[in-house]
Amino acid sequence: LKQTATTTSSSSVDDGETPALLHRSLVTRPHLVDHADGSYLYLADGRPILDACGGAAVAVIGHGNAEVIASTAAQMQRTSYIHTGAYTTTAAEDLAKFILECGTSVDGNDSYLAHGLTRAFFVGSGSEANESAMKIARQYFFERGELQRQHYISRRQAYHGNTFGSMSVSSVLGRRVPYEDVLLPNVSFVNPAFEYHYRHNNEAEEEYAERLIHELEVHFLEIGPEKIISFIVEPVVGATSGCVTAPKGYFSGVRSLCDKYGILLHFDEVMCGMGRTGSYFAFEQEDGGVLPDIVTIGKGLGGGYVPLAAMLVNDRIVNTLRQGTSVFNHGHTFQAHPTACSAALAVQKIIRREGLVSRCADLGTKFGQRLRTEFGSCKYVGDVRGRGLFWALEFVKDKKTKIPFEASVGFGAQIHQLAFDLGVAVYPCVGTVDGVVGDHILLAPPFNISDDEVDIIISTLWRAYH
Ligand code: PLP
Repeated sequence: LKQTATTTSSSSVDDGETPALLHRSLVTRPHLVDHADGSYLYLADGRPILDACGGAAVAVIGHGNAEVIASTAAQMQRTSYIHTGAYTTTAAEDLAKFILECGTSVDGNDSYLAHGLTRAFFVGSGSEANESAMKIARQYFFERGELQRQHYISRRQAYHGNTFGSMSVSSVLGRRVPYEDVLLPNVSFVNPAFEYHYRHNNEAEEEYAERLIHELEVHFLEIGPEKIISFIVEPVVGATSGCVTAPKGYFSGVRSLCDKYGILLHFDEVMCGMGRTGSYFAFEQEDGGVLPDIVTIGKGLGGGYVPLAAMLVNDRIVNTLRQGTSVFNHGHTFQAHPTACSAALAVQKIIRREGLVSRCADLGTKFGQRLRTEFGSCKYVGDVRGRGLFWALEFVKDKKTKIPFEASVGFGAQIHQLAFDLGVAVYPCVGTVDGVVGDHILLAPPFNISDDEVDIIISTLWRAYH
């Protein structure tokens, strides 16, 4: 591998042209996509790219689904827009009901309101969903007269979004730097649950979980538990550190601690939710099912056909607001947009009808086994981890010490580029997070990816690596 990643691609927007769109990079150009179909993107120069990461774990049923397109068009013909201050639509109401019904309850019944989540609030992005969640959590305590609750706790190496509030609870340093002085001051971070890097050599999984819970309690007490609004955490950490699952006992310990101190538990499932890990909500698999007070979802909700995300809250919050001002004073012009809700409902109905969450679990197990077999013993692959169709390979310079490559090497970024040049897109690693970890690639293909396409992903990655 080279010292710095290079690109051999020729499908970028013409370099001679001044772009009107403000791209993330003002120097390099993104690839121009002509169209997409199934699991493939087709670039303007004709090259097919097998999208092994569904964009950013978004394209859960692939592209170009005729049923989704038809029902979305029908909704646009019926009602293109309403203002939610005074109106609602069946598209939004039906989607809310559908999502709240998703999943298997802790006692095994596939029942309505299985997880105690009783209301959904639809917005356009995961960041907005987390922003809404941070605000409703604060309002919950405001209505209860607990005005001293002003503090949010999140975890290191976490990403919860790009708006000021959601970025304030994210510890992705690279993104924070220019804004550091204007982010929310009343936020603190605890250690993530990340066995590969932080579990001690002779520490059992449960002991590691207990250590983390102890650390969390110490932190709560340092801040003053009566001042804390919520603990925000991804059940399976996505982009920042690459499909990191928690040790057994961690989430039940977190729930107990939050209950002990009256702190709200907010699961950010924007990336890992909506079936991605093999259950509708990732939290269903934690310690027999640990229930949060707030869940945020996004990405797979609309499957990329529309921009849509949501905040789901339980009755504890709904009833408190109802007995208080009865208003959630947080609205967006385009919230619960009928076109978006209708498209997302079509996507979700397909997922349910075709049993794609179970397929994600079954195929995911096989996919993970194959990744482990093919790459587990490779010299620079430190860890192969994941759940469902949500897998990461983490690259290290030395497997024994787990020391990462220097940022200038960008091993994961180079694998990403090499695989792309061979026709497969993997999620580009974020780079080193908190100066410690993050040199990985992430795989999150559509739930209905074919077996042949899985073979192509594995064999292409193999060629890219070697
Ligand atoms: N939360 C998590 C866990 C995410 O992975 C992301 C996006 O990657 C977000 C929040 C922000 O979502 P969005 O980019 O839709 O604003």
